[in-house]
Amino acid sequence: MSVKAYGAIAADNPLEPMAIARRAPGPRDVQVEIAYCGVCHSDLHTVRSEWGGTRYPCVPGHEIVGKVSAVGAEVKGFQVGDTVGVGCMVDSCGHCAACGEGLEQYCENGFTGTYNGATADPPGHTFGGYSQRIVVDERFVLRIRHPEAQLAAVAPLLCAGITTYSPLRHWNAGPGKKVGIVGIGGLGHMGIKIAHAMGAHVVAFTTSEGKRRDAHALGADEVVISRDAAQMQAHAGSFDMILDTVAASHDLDAFTSLLKRDGTLVLVGVPEHPHPSPAIGNLVFKRRAIAGSLIGGIAETQEMLDFCAGHGLVADIEMVAARDIDKAYDRMVRSDVKYRFVIDAATL
Ligand code: NAP
Ligand code: ZN
Repeated sequence: MSVKAYGAIAADNPLEPMAIARRAPGPRDVQVEIAYCGVCHSDLHTVRSEWGGTRYPCVPGHEIVGKVSAVGAEVKGFQVGDTVGVGCMVDSCGHCAACGEGLEQYCENGFTGTYNGATADPPGHTFGGYSQRIVVDERFVLRIRHPEAQLAAVAPLLCAGITTYSPLRHWNAGPGKKVGIVGIGGLGHMGIKIAHAMGAHVVAFTTSEGKRRDAHALGADEVVISRDAAQMQAHAGSFDMILDTVAASHDLDAFTSLLKRDGTLVLVGVPEHPHPSPAIGNLVFKRRAIAGSLIGGIAETQEMLDFCAGHGLVADIEMVAARDIDKAYDRMVRSDVKYRFVIDAATL
């Protein structure tokens, strides 16, 4: 079945309308008519091959929400008409230790990305959510319990939500903990909302003075302009955890020095160019750690969606028509996004 999509045929090409094929649903597949898809900075990194290894044509998008339009004969969990989500993964081996623990994102045989992943479907790599329809194994389909009117603003939870929720949970953000969130973009603004809802004392770090008021409205108890050394110094040695969502290379020492003894700087941003090597003294003298975290498993993604529905959390979004995605990318590079672009699939 051919459906409309937006994608790029090369790294230096803008996105353009294209037709892509979707398989007929197999016995365990769920077919989803896409309503909205969020625009993640990873889409931009991939389309422009900033990480290398992009397969073209590239149809990005892994913050997908929509309605089930068909299910395979063996599908038990979903029915036609259900409101569902699809995030960053559409398959994993299902039998390694990581999959056994519900950590499909760390699948030892490699999970299949929602886009740019290897698949048996032609042309051999997956196409993401900048399209009208997607067909996904039911194990990778999420249930949406938010009110229908919030659907567009739920889409970014499928990546930005889980990518911040998972490390906040893993490093025990909650009452009595001082948590920093670095970069107020798509991930960062959800990180602020979720850490606040978990009960932590939240400090937002931004390079954009103009985001200060918004950061408080999102749930930050304090806001620090990270380019201001005096403001940074006032928080030296005080954080349990800092979650760094920045999409560009930057100095990590400015943040490791703000951690308490045994505090952790968790990197989720994956910039095109590496960060300067961190100062080792900053780590060894206080047993501080630098860690990384990748999205979250399927069970945890459902837990996050239900947590957000229960706390009334959605993303702050700006709707964008498919023809304007490149303009949205350029604004994202300039940190000018409040705070997630979402594509209305009706504009494809
Ligand atoms: P985004 O919306 O573009 O937000 C990134 C924010 O970082 C900007 O809004 C800006 O916030 C800050 N920033 C940008 N350039 C900066 C610079 N040179 N120095 C300091 N701060 C800067 O991006 P996103 O969609 O949230 O994604 C963020 C990163 O996470 C990307 O690299 C993406 O690929 C990665 N990612 C990782 C995972 C994972 O599983 N680990 C999942 C999804 C995305 P301020 O204006 O507040 O400074
Ligand atoms: Zn993403």
